[in-house]
Amino acid sequence: MHRFFTNEIQPNTAVVRGDDVKHIAKVLRLRAGDCVQLCDGRGNECDASIASVSSDAVTFDTQLWRKAATEPETEVTLFQCLPKAGKMETIIQKCVELGACGFVPVQSERCVVVLKPPYEGRIERWQRVSEEAAKQSRRGVIPWVSLPAPLNGLDFSRLDTVLVAFENEHTVSLKTALRERCGKRVAIVIGPEGGFSDAEIETLIQKGARTVSLGTRILRTETAGMAMLAQILYEVEP
Ligand code: SAM
Repeated sequence: MHRFFTNEIQPNTAVVRGDDVKHIAKVLRLRAGDCVQLCDGRGNECDASIASVSSDAVTFDTQLWRKAATEPETEVTLFQCLPKAGKMETIIQKCVELGACGFVPVQSERCVVVLKPPYEGRIERWQRVSEEAAKQSRRGVIPWVSLPAPLNGLDFSRLDTVLVAFENEHTVSLKTALRERCGKRVAIVIGPEGGFSDAEIETLIQKGARTVSLGTRILRTETAGMAMLAQILYEVEP
């Protein structure tokens, strides 16, 4: 069934506006009476039927809202050091499909890309990538993308577990760390193409992070986050 996000919700009715109107009316050619799923973007979904279609809005009759079945219990935020051009889009798209709840682009010492303000255009583009991936993968939320943050200014205070993927960690595997302790709100931190400096690893540890290995092979920065996210949700989700 087709699925759309909306935040215009009232008892028994909801409205979808914007680009989705054209998609519903012209591309999918849905008409009054056709059924879809609606999602409020905050983890709730409902079955709905089209009541009316106009040039700028589609109005739905909604049934009971329920918790979206597609959201993991564990909220994983990806702190991704800025990769080379174009890779961030792929990382966001794939990690939304896999179940990430949000993204923090991180500026670190060895990032080839240095983002300069104003950041809004780029963040909006990444947020659109997240929304498209959320629709496609039937997520119950649209994962957020924050403004870029410098590595030494990262704030982990609202997170239960912070895991830094570090290829020079030869003792603690991801699996070991997760089995020892894993809270509901997990951060994963991935270095750029050139990796983290020793000083950055020290900074992250002082902020409460734990370094983990993802195995003996070195993964590209765009692979590491996806692999780590998939393994975390495999390990901790029922
Ligand atoms: N510059 C490093 C080197 O050549 O040895 C590799 C950096 S790697 C391409 C980019 C990031 O992916 C790393 O900073 C780390 O966060 C993560 N990563 C890749 N492979 C990993 C592994 N086997 N274990 C833990 N983290 C890994």
